[in-house]
Amino acid sequence: DVTATKGNDFEDYFLKRELLMGIYEKGFERPSPIQEESIPIALTGRDILARAKNGTGKTAAFCIPALEKIDQDKNVIQVVILVPTRELALQTSQVCKELAKHLKVQVMVTTGGTSLKDDVMRLYQPVHLIAGTPGRILDLAKKGVCVLQDCSMLIMDEADKLLSPEFQPSIEQLIHFLPENRQILLFSATFPVTVKDFKDRYLRKPYIINLMDELTLKGITQYYAFVEERQKVHCLNTLFSKLQINQSIIFCNSVNRVELLAKKITELGFSCFYIHAKMLQDHRNRVFHDFRNGACRNLVCTDLFTRGIDIQAVNVVINFDFPKNSETYLHRVGRSGRFGHLGLAVNLITYEDRFNLYRIEQELGTEIKQIPSQIDQAIY
Ligand code: ADP
Ligand code: MG
Repeated sequence: DVTATKGNDFEDYFLKRELLMGIYEKGFERPSPIQEESIPIALTGRDILARAKNGTGKTAAFCIPALEKIDQDKNVIQVVILVPTRELALQTSQVCKELAKHLKVQVMVTTGGTSLKDDVMRLYQPVHLIAGTPGRILDLAKKGVCVLQDCSMLIMDEADKLLSPEFQPSIEQLIHFLPENRQILLFSATFPVTVKDFKDRYLRKPYIINLMDELTLKGITQYYAFVEERQKVHCLNTLFSKLQINQSIIFCNSVNRVELLAKKITELGFSCFYIHAKMLQDHRNRVFHDFRNGACRNLVCTDLFTRGIDIQAVNVVINFDFPKNSETYLHRVGRSGRFGHLGLAVNLITYEDRFNLYRIEQELGTEIKQIPSQIDQAIY
């Protein structure tokens, strides 16, 4: 069995026998890659910042070390797991309870929208691990009923959402109820600036795990065309007639501009869908689905659409409006490295955009060249 190498077995972590039983009863035979990376490091007490795709087993990656480290004979809260939604809180606490089935660890879940009084009552009983949304846990901590002075582990799942403006203030307050020598485990699928800031301020020499398929600009030829704002549509028209477009995505910087441009493109006689954040989710899903199925050649959209797109048929991306930063640029234009298809990116650059163009080029260490009059079809 080729997968049965050392370090690829739950037995290798010397976990409590009762915990191992819970793991096997859940049907886990071997650790997933994210678990393999994070469990042994988390057990040493080191802070972790981990990026991994959805569905890769992040929950057990932090629940297993958390449960292992809990001292069942000490009736104090030792682990806090923060998540951004009620559903996720319930789901996470459920996983903890299942894994802890043969342990004597008390798991409590608490979220906004439930009775605070009930939570207070429950906290009179022993609780070792508490999972929930930040606001409620902060409330309980402020009231002095949720005592966190012995909580040696803070886990943040979906950290990018937890560090959005909605939750960040609660988290900053909550962290001060924890002792100085706490361990922090941060899990996230994306890694925005807010997560980086948090890491820099609160994590100590974190062990970084990155299991994402990084976006790459490899294989993508990038051009710019200097235009005036009022020439943009004309320029796009020229691109449409010159380029061999299989499917294209055209980015604008606002909802209004998406709708206006989609109308103009249709008037020019090209087929086109559009998607933006002000549309209902149902409608968005339908358009996305139809585009993916090839019902239409061109899609105009805002950045809403950039995360996680992987439509292999798209060979041309056009920044009708140039993005403000390199992260957005990469998400619009970059592709998952695994599929190395070729592609073409064309950026319409106004006078105001020029510094942004140079900056993004620098930051991404890439080259965006002036568009030639003829483009070799073989490069995209
Ligand atoms: P993520 O948080 O990364 O999106 P989850 O923790 O929700 O992923 O896990 C996704 C699914 O994989 C769950 O159904 C979970 O039970 C299952 N799973 C996790 N770890 C293992 C494992 N080691 N072996 C088999 N299945 C696993
Ligand atoms: Mg998860």
